[in-house]
Amino acid sequence: MRVLLIAPPGAGKGTQGALIATHFGSPHIATGDLLRDHVARGTELGRSVQDHLAQGELVPDDIVLEMVRAAIVEAKAGGNGYVLDGMPRNLAQARALYEIALGLDMTANVALHLKADDEELSRRLLARAALEGRSDDTEEVIRRRLAIYHEVTHPIVEWYGARGILVSVDAVRPIERVARQILTALEAMRPLVDLVPEHARRSIDLTGLGAAFGKN
Ligand code: AMP
Repeated sequence: MRVLLIAPPGAGKGTQGALIATHFGSPHIATGDLLRDHVARGTELGRSVQDHLAQGELVPDDIVLEMVRAAIVEAKAGGNGYVLDGMPRNLAQARALYEIALGLDMTANVALHLKADDEELSRRLLARAALEGRSDDTEEVIRRRLAIYHEVTHPIVEWYGARGILVSVDAVRPIERVARQILTALEAMRPLVDLVPEHARRSIDLTGLGAAFGKN
């Protein structure tokens, strides 16, 4: 299974991404984690992006695209798809990623959109700041990251909708409920993804199905 995760900061994409990757035995490619690792190791790349991360700004597209290309090449060799978390973050990245993946015969089967409202997201991010001490989880930077999400990241949801590979879920529920719904949907789609061509696919909105999977 080849899955892209699109979600505002704080919606749980890191947690859900790791669960999906474990479930399918796929590599979990999290661009934020890769970038933070570079910063922590003080690499040249890390030094060039540390201010972007600290301020909640997106790092330049070519840097993340190159990083992700290498990770997809590795995932292809592994043969178990991938879970890409945190990429693409804007329409230019979405288009460039599609070209890269097309060249490697590794385009995404599913773009998974985790939906949550800003109030809940700010609450979660501030709680995480207290626990993990991430430098970009201050109130001001959180506001900036949410604004960037709305301005440039959220519009790509529609782009994936038009491609017919979008699956939307309500992320404002306990982790295990959200995970159960995601894995149920992905398992149901699994036998079809290689058989049904993209132009014949339809996007799925599961956000109204909260009650069926337990709202709490
Ligand atoms: P995340 O862990 O996904 O919330 O990402 C943390 C930070 O890493 C973001 O606020 C950006 O500064 C940077 N980042 C992660 N992924 C990308 C991307 N695809 N494009 C640009 N910047 C990114």
